[in-house]
Amino acid sequence: MEAQCSHSPILHRPTIRGARSGAPLFFMIADDMKTLIWFRDDLRTEDHSALLEAVKRGRSGVAGLFIATPLTWKKHRVGSPRVTFTLSCLASLKSDLEAIGIPLIFREVPTYADIPQTVADIVRSHDIDEIHAGLEYGVDEIARDRAVSLSLKGLDASLNLCDTQTILPVYRIRNKAGLPYKVFTPFRKAWEEMYLTANIEAPNPPSETVSSGIASTPLPDAISGFAPWTPKSTWTGGSETAIARLKRFIEEEKCFEYKNTRDRPDLDGTSTLSPWLATGSLSASRCLTELSKTYGPDITSWPEGPRCWQGELVWREFYRYVMASFPEVSQRQPMQQWTTDIDWRDSPKDLQAWKDGRTGIDIVDAGMIQLKETGWMHNRVRMVVAMFLSKNLLIDWRHGEDHFSSSLVDYDFASNNGGWQWAASTGTDAAPYFRIFNAETQGERFDHDGNYRRQWLRGRPKGTVPPIVDLKTSRVRAIETFKAAQADWQMKSH
Ligand SMILES: Cc1cc2nc3c(=O)[nH]c(=O)nc-3n(C[C@H](O)[C@H](O)[C@H](O)COP(=O)(O)OP(=O)(O)OC[C@H]3O[C@@H](n4cnc5c(N)ncnc54)[C@H](O)[C@@H]3O)c2cc1C
Repeated sequence: MEAQCSHSPILHRPTIRGARSGAPLFFMIADDMKTLIWFRDDLRTEDHSALLEAVKRGRSGVAGLFIATPLTWKKHRVGSPRVTFTLSCLASLKSDLEAIGIPLIFREVPTYADIPQTVADIVRSHDIDEIHAGLEYGVDEIARDRAVSLSLKGLDASLNLCDTQTILPVYRIRNKAGLPYKVFTPFRKAWEEMYLTANIEAPNPPSETVSSGIASTPLPDAISGFAPWTPKSTWTGGSETAIARLKRFIEEEKCFEYKNTRDRPDLDGTSTLSPWLATGSLSASRCLTELSKTYGPDITSWPEGPRCWQGELVWREFYRYVMASFPEVSQRQPMQQWTTDIDWRDSPKDLQAWKDGRTGIDIVDAGMIQLKETGWMHNRVRMVVAMFLSKNLLIDWRHGEDHFSSSLVDYDFASNNGGWQWAASTGTDAAPYFRIFNAETQGERFDHDGNYRRQWLRGRPKGTVPPIVDLKTSRVRAIETFKAAQADWQMKSH
């Protein structure tokens, strides 16, 4: 399936437009057209349908744009790890773009509300005819794009959006009743049916461009209000690092072993590609294209390791789909409405102990220390710490979501919100509220030799930090509280 974009301004929700749609292009390309490619969470030059479109149509040249909005990022609780990593990816993107003759304009403005004016100024001063960008699914992002589109009307310019974050135009996937799926398994089935007929490729970066005569602007070392982050592990941004990492993951057969190792936080058993996928330095399509070289084009016949890993990429698409289909998730609302009646505990002390890795439950504390020191945490441990906070401590999952968003180097709204709503049983296809992990048992099961806990707790002797909660009684308390909320909700709805 060839990536294509629509060529009219975006004024609606993303369900109506997008690339990879196969829609014919009816628009003539003027000879003197100058285009702008506005990068958001798609900081790469390969497999970038909006960039390809900007280059194809920009016969008088194309320039790149990135706009930092620190106050909006703060409002969205993005933290220094993600911002620092984004800057590292931007530096790499800038040199990749310049290598193909495209300059990168960088702007910093406080909020999304300042963007329409900023974009209009650039359009005016450089005679830009079209802006191309990747679709974003959040309520604020859709409103921002709509405002930009309106501001361009008087300037005879347009904003055109393509899919750049997902492998497929996921928002098109619907059940037989024409409604969005709420459960992962049928979504995955529909996704795979679409994938198998779509012939998706990850195209190379454009090789030739016409000079726009526009100069790049320097990138800053830091963004206002975000202290540069210096973690204990190194995260080097950019597509080159990501692709090398992806290739190693496949060549060293880690992907082949993935099904057996993915739940073991003591092993290096997952790809750790999430930061690059979050910033879009690496596209999920590229991951599948690379796997196809080894295992063939039919994903359904792949060995269980690669097949299982491909399933995780579909989870990533599913959470974007949920975001595009149910706007309430990006407005701090749970998917399961009855859970708004849960009587969460207000305990700043317990919340802080959880953040500091001082709950006295070793696997939880090890995970929280790994997060603090590296900006990353193993998926199994993310599930354990999230369930511990929202069930055993009975603290509102949104506190956990916020802490993760400000601490993770791979922070990605859709996956983070999806993960938290799954653990707290408030989301679509979430863990049932009465099925609560016992954190100690999880530690014994997935870190049987204790290496992971020892690594992050630095040999903290058992019992030095007494548990802040009893796992058994707090489990019962959570079940009773959730049950009461459900009963209340049912009473109110009758
Ligand atoms: C509470 C909670 C919060 C999370 N927050 C984020 C977040 O902010 N950003 C983020 O990228 N992931 C998040 N995840 C999902 C998952 O934990 C990470 O994607 C994964 O641990 C990253 O490690 P990896 O790259 O080695 O993954 P791999 O196991 O190698 O998987 C490959 C890729 O698939 C995607 N993926 C894997 N698991 C999931 C999943 N459960 N949901 C969605 N996508 C997935 C990621 O892009 C990942 O890089 C969260 C999960 C939970 C339970």
